[in-house]
Amino acid sequence: MREAFRNPRHLLEFLQLPDPEKFKENEFSMLVTKSFAKRMEKSYDDPLLKQVLPDAKEEDTRSDFIKDPLKEFSTPYKNSPNILQKYQKRALLITSNACAINCRYCFRRHFPYKLHRPKNIEQAISEIGMDSTINEIILSGGDPLLLDDASLKTIFNQISTIKTIKTIRIHTRLPIVLPQRISEGLIDVLKLVNQKLVVVVHTNHPNELNHETKRAFTCLKNCDAWLLNQSVLLKGINDDGQILIDLSEKLFDQAVLPYYLHLPDKVANTSHFFVNIKEGQKIHKEMQAGLPGYLLPNLIKEIPGQPSKTIMSA
Ligand SMILES: *Cc1c(COP(=O)(O)O)cnc(C)c1O
Ligand code: SF4
Repeated sequence: MREAFRNPRHLLEFLQLPDPEKFKENEFSMLVTKSFAKRMEKSYDDPLLKQVLPDAKEEDTRSDFIKDPLKEFSTPYKNSPNILQKYQKRALLITSNACAINCRYCFRRHFPYKLHRPKNIEQAISEIGMDSTINEIILSGGDPLLLDDASLKTIFNQISTIKTIKTIRIHTRLPIVLPQRISEGLIDVLKLVNQKLVVVVHTNHPNELNHETKRAFTCLKNCDAWLLNQSVLLKGINDDGQILIDLSEKLFDQAVLPYYLHLPDKVANTSHFFVNIKEGQKIHKEMQAGLPGYLLPNLIKEIPGQPSKTIMSA
């Protein structure tokens, strides 16, 4: 993380792009790991660069794009911070308030992470333990794998005292953006997990996958983890049937199954990435025609108040 790019000018110089002043910073700072930057092509049109480079278009303030379209700021579970529960049987734990990359389109870009402190995690897990209807804990954030191995071990140990929890799910982008994080130490910790282990990563474009991500996934597989991917459908990045077909096939080469393809949420400052439902359905149909059923992700949208994510395929 010390090597990560935090200054857009440095990133653009690293990529040897002309006019390195071609960015527009704002309060959501740039952050991108060197490993991810090395997978970029030297072009302003690069689909990886577009995911992370601050852009003047973010200043667009369309009134239908708001800070909390998913109504997450005001729906804590019981009285405990750090827990979001929207659906039956599974509770999401905010374990970390940071990511290893700042995705410009992030749906939690405006999330009040300050209210969810790492020191509350122990309390939050015991709160979840008191509700026997919950059988799955989702570690999310931010990125839970930014916690150190000892903190993760403490969390897993505490969860293992709750008999009703059958599955631990980790939502992380680190196997993609910082594959070195899948280290021997982390593997040792994950091998101690007794519950079913599911790792859901986040990849949007086939160029994000290389030999480093493959090594990371192989290690996770060796911990008996189920590996799934979610993508966000993003204008100018992956709003193309063939790109997403290639992504599904490449994920499968690395032992990961496509899970969800999210239609973007109307989050403030992200309108330039927006893809509407009709366009999304058309792209999804092209994918369906070009892939075996098991490599087709569900096209979904989150509609606040619904008992699950909503499947939107035509
Ligand atoms: C999306 C989400 C989940 C996971 O839903 P699945 O359909 O099981 O993947 C769980 N909790 C929260 C708060 C979510 O936003
Ligand atoms: S990794 Fe996920 S939570 Fe983190 S910035 Fe990207 S989209 Fe947001």
